[in-house]
Amino acid sequence: MKKAAVFGSFVVDLMARSPHLPVPGETVKGSMFKMGPGGKGFNQCVAAHKAGSDVVMVTKVGTDSFADVILDTMKDLGMSREHIFLNKDTETGIALIIVDENTSQNEIIIVPGACNTITAGEVASIEDVIRKCEYVLLQLEVNQNANEMVADLANKYGCKVILNTAPYVPITDEFLAKCYMVTPNEVEAEAITGIAVTNLDSAKKAAAYFKKKGVTDVVITLGSRGVFVSSKGKEAIIPAYKVKVVDTTGAGDAFNGGLLAALAEEKELWDAVRFANALAALSVQKLGTTPSMPSREAVDKFLA
Ligand code: ATP
Repeated sequence: MKKAAVFGSFVVDLMARSPHLPVPGETVKGSMFKMGPGGKGFNQCVAAHKAGSDVVMVTKVGTDSFADVILDTMKDLGMSREHIFLNKDTETGIALIIVDENTSQNEIIIVPGACNTITAGEVASIEDVIRKCEYVLLQLEVNQNANEMVADLANKYGCKVILNTAPYVPITDEFLAKCYMVTPNEVEAEAITGIAVTNLDSAKKAAAYFKKKGVTDVVITLGSRGVFVSSKGKEAIIPAYKVKVVDTTGAGDAFNGGLLAALAEEKELWDAVRFANALAALSVQKLGTTPSMPSREAVDKFLA
């Protein structure tokens, strides 16, 4: 098995349910509050770790009590906490999530906080980690100059960059050229390429856009419709598994973590996508993000 790293965000999810979403100036008495680990980077790393991957998490938190949420979760899951940087002056990132208990509509504010302040020195300090990795998985939730430095390091050592383009922020062609694989969802694929991905043909056009920029393999997630894959001249949509959906939040994170784990195990891309599809299908049957990531045994059983 090859080593892998996830370089990305950690935020504490602060989720409240209420009878309706407050309008400006209104205070609503909520019915439930839940706090837990989140952030695309961390969710994806937990998914890969629980899938059995030899994966390192690199992120940054504050020195407040919210930092304990990641440190305690990592300890419980048996993950290495060696590359969690600390910022004494900036709070740990948070996501304020309000869910309307009647309609399930939500409003979310993310303040990335400390994980938006990763310095050049901190990136330099993980040079040896990246050198030993076959893959590094990035998202767009931390300060982008840090992502770019990590991509440079990865390119220097032949470590392949997988970029999950979430959440969408504008990125340069130079950065895309440093990525071996991109994994946008439909919305991000359209925002980056200008092509609305609605079927196989438009997905092929979006893939061609990424390939023209220097990306080798393109994987576009299509929610309940499945995943489009473009690799080595073969292009197709792999359908999603039909399951009873409880909560699709974090499906993309489950998919990306599963994909990383499978690729690091040297599964070929099409098999890796099937594995990630299964992992995501299991995650949507449970509430939450990090807690919904399934164990390796559960994925193997599902695929058997
Ligand atoms: P999110 O932002 O909610 O985490 P996303 O938009 O990044 O998700 P999606 O494309 O919605 O990602 O989903 C990622 C993958 O998860 C899909 O390609 C599919 O494999 C799986 N998936 C998502 N929704 C479902 C579903 N309803 N049933 C089965 N699998 C699903």
